[in-house]
Amino acid sequence: MKKMEMIYEGKAKKVFQTDDPKLYIVDYKDDATAFNGGKKGTIADKGVVNNTMSAIIFEILEKKGIPTHMVKLISDRETLVKAVKILPLEVIIRNVAAGSFSKRYGVEEGSSLAKTILEFSYKNDALGDPLINDDHILALELATEEQLAAVKKYAYAVNDALKEFFLDKGLKLIDFKIEFGLCDGEVILADEISPDTCRLWDVKTNEKMDKDRFRRDLGRVEETYQEVLARIKR
Ligand code: UDP
Repeated sequence: MKKMEMIYEGKAKKVFQTDDPKLYIVDYKDDATAFNGGKKGTIADKGVVNNTMSAIIFEILEKKGIPTHMVKLISDRETLVKAVKILPLEVIIRNVAAGSFSKRYGVEEGSSLAKTILEFSYKNDALGDPLINDDHILALELATEEQLAAVKKYAYAVNDALKEFFLDKGLKLIDFKIEFGLCDGEVILADEISPDTCRLWDVKTNEKMDKDRFRRDLGRVEETYQEVLARIKR
């Protein structure tokens, strides 16, 4: 597989065309941003952790019947993926109150929720990724009704699979963000699943084991990313 022209560079990843128009190569960087680009830094070897962890998780999700963009891992920072058109939605699942939810609704971080929450943000940096609902998505034609139904079904299925997977590694899945793309007209899971996109708390100590260590200057950032990967590989 030949790595060709770079077609996109995001905050944490670069995407390259290949000699097959149906396949892209994703290359994970160590760059970290938070607060919509307001805080910038690097986390040494984050790219390796996020690439490896995403590959392991996508394989597990495929086995559970959730279609993903994953084709195969090609190096410690690169994965071959199916070319998709990303739906401009950040799909967030919350099992426990944290982050922007706690702030917005005045609920203490760590409070349990009477119901699992699925929420959407409109993926638009210029607007600061505003919270949107189903009607907004349909009215703005960000997805069709069928696509929206598939997104929701897969998002809950990802949550069920990941809650169990992480608990087995001594980690509580507090919340996470996923993104979907269209491949031959079908909705499939794309982007990444990593400590950048999930809140993971140690089951015993409630220690934060995710990007909040970078966002909130909690220290031991690199060590924590390595620890999460080590647990996942066990
Ligand atoms: N998240 C993400 N990218 C974003 C926004 C959120 O991966 O642009 C993840 C975040 O890591 C957390 C979950 O989505 O696991 C919920 O984030 P929240 O809305 O609480 O926002 P935050 O507090 O991160 O600003």
